[in-house]
Amino acid sequence: MPVRYRCRHCETEIGRLPFDAEETIRKLHLFEIGEIDDYIEKDARGETIVHSICEHCEDSLRQFPDYHALKNWLQ
Ligand SMILES: [Zn+2]
Repeated sequence: MPVRYRCRHCETEIGRLPFDAEETIRKLHLFEIGEIDDYIEKDARGETIVHSICEHCEDSLRQFPDYHALKNWLQ
């Protein structure tokens, strides 16, 4: 099953790996973020979704660090 990277702020698909790389990704990200299960999930079709952040959100987060906190609060 392919692995898809999706922005956890705006749901944009950032990219996909055309092979099952879940184990590799787990090892890769474990060092970065620790709580890997918060970032990886399986969807209904059994595809692995990695919740990441897209360039757009990364930029706006850098420019307006309070914006996303506010948006999450309002939802
Ligand atoms: Zn985004």
